[in-house]
Amino acid sequence: MRPLSLNTATVRKQWSLAQIIDGCARHDIRGISPWRDQVAALGLKNAATSIRDNGLTVTGLCRGGFFTAEDWKDDNLRAIEEAHALGAQCLVLVVGGLLPGSKDLQKSRAQIEDGIGAILPHARKAGVPLAIEPLHPMQAAERACINTLEQALDICEALGEGVGVAVDVYHVWWDPKLESQIRRAGKENILAYHICDWLVPTRDLLSDRGMMGDGVIDLPRIRRWVEAAGYTGFQEVEIFSELDWWKRDPDEVLQTCKARLVHC
Ligand code: ZN
Repeated sequence: MRPLSLNTATVRKQWSLAQIIDGCARHDIRGISPWRDQVAALGLKNAATSIRDNGLTVTGLCRGGFFTAEDWKDDNLRAIEEAHALGAQCLVLVVGGLLPGSKDLQKSRAQIEDGIGAILPHARKAGVPLAIEPLHPMQAAERACINTLEQALDICEALGEGVGVAVDVYHVWWDPKLESQIRRAGKENILAYHICDWLVPTRDLLSDRGMMGDGVIDLPRIRRWVEAAGYTGFQEVEIFSELDWWKRDPDEVLQTCKARLVHC
């Protein structure tokens, strides 16, 4: 069984980052992937110290990206510094959707690739790998117009060392090329593996993700693919759930995440 990491979005409505770090320690969850607003609220130094003192591995920092927005550069450079300070294994990039007022997907995607290329030297220097996270195509307009692993890996190939992918099952489970693209990515390029489940029916396209085992994603199969590609890292649970898990006792959420690993 791959070790578990908690993406802090999973209990963000109930707990502060300090409480989440404490919760991970109590529940013997050894990895954490915090969001930058939570880190800022606790203070970068405090967050780094507290995470280190509790022996947690930072499997990612969420997030940089949004290369089609104004002021994308400064914010991404700050994100790289924060990821470095936290000792994060990668900075997750939600790359951004269409350019403002544009219908031009190609141009938007080209700007995203240029943007990643522009921050890559800084990331390399800081020792922070950049993880492009392809998002489900329903989010192409507003959040990310890189929507398949294949597109993301094409960018990795073009840009070279220091950039890889975050494989989030919620976004890529439907892709007929998923197995072959995971194989193509290999150990080198798979920087993070995010899990949850796809509920039927899905009541909200952004924040109705399911707990592992409650939906239709064949998690053991995808895990076998990433392992066959050489991935040996954590399974990071990332659940946005306005209607269910964000309403529950967070200790119950963490217990359930651990118990559901049998479905992963
Ligand atoms: Zn994710």
